[in-house]
Amino acid sequence: MKAFVMKEIGRVGFMDKPVPRPGPNDAVVRTTRALICTSDSHTVAGGIGPRENLTLGHEAVGVVHDVGSEVKIFEPGDRVLVGAITPDWGHPASQAGHSSQSGAPLGGWKFSNSKDGVFAEYFHVNEADANMAKIPENVPDDMAVYCADMLSTGFMGAENGNIPVGGTVAVLAQGPVGLMATAGAKLRGAGLIIGVESVPNRQVLARTYGVDAIVDFTKEDVVDRILDLTRGEGVDTAIEALGADITFQTAVKITKPGGTVSNTGYFGDGEFVHIPRLDWGVGMADKTIATGLCPGGRLRMERLLRVLETKRVDPTLMTTHTFRFDAVEQAFEVYDKKLDDVIKPLIVF
Ligand SMILES: [Zn+2]
Repeated sequence: MKAFVMKEIGRVGFMDKPVPRPGPNDAVVRTTRALICTSDSHTVAGGIGPRENLTLGHEAVGVVHDVGSEVKIFEPGDRVLVGAITPDWGHPASQAGHSSQSGAPLGGWKFSNSKDGVFAEYFHVNEADANMAKIPENVPDDMAVYCADMLSTGFMGAENGNIPVGGTVAVLAQGPVGLMATAGAKLRGAGLIIGVESVPNRQVLARTYGVDAIVDFTKEDVVDRILDLTRGEGVDTAIEALGADITFQTAVKITKPGGTVSNTGYFGDGEFVHIPRLDWGVGMADKTIATGLCPGGRLRMERLLRVLETKRVDPTLMTTHTFRFDAVEQAFEVYDKKLDDVIKPLIVF
């Protein structure tokens, strides 16, 4: 089968690999749709260290090709969503409610990290009964594929943010995760959602997904403006959706005492992330900093798919580009260099 791999740091290309075989609890899925993610670019750039001929990608849906002897819920032919994060459910971290951290910190992240990813004609899924979900009939693959990571991570930002009904929320950066954090904040009942973003087509989408006020960091001081919009109080919840030290510091500054900084960003460089001491209330202002990696699991994916099934949110508005699998390298280029106002490129198999 054809697979799109990271040959070494900074070098990608196609290669032939054998179709994977399932262990007793596993499945093999024939890929139908996938999405490129910022963390794929981080991986190629060496963000997780050197890798040799590792298949890229972690966001995909497909059709079950083969299942192991112990798989009970799925059979060949089922149309399925597979989580970007595929935890080991027997690990103590999973039993403690932190399945994304099973096996090791971020250990639930296996695709394109500790095993081959999903940019291939077929891919392997561990613990299939727990790590896949059947896609409802009225939800197309193009839409369901967003639940692998973007909806799950963005909604996690809102969930971890502990948003009070009617409360105030700022979402820092309106990329795909920030946009879904915005949609999540709206679903959670936020009374005011402020989106920080400078790119015009992202500003438009942010409003579509629920942002009430846009703050453009290229034109105004983000902290001053958000304090203005909240009568000098700051927000109940600041969701960091970029993964930059300066944005994280802003999040701490704009969060009111008792509020929550909810991080979804992937901090790919630098040795430290800084907390502004005084704005943090010298460590005594009841400001919670919550972190998380995209949650996995069938129960969660079934919930996310229900949100799509009942048309609460339409993530396909983020699909700005579509590429066939054999053109995935061009898709990477467009995404990496942020060409042509790209938000999310969809890969069709
Ligand atoms: Zn992703």
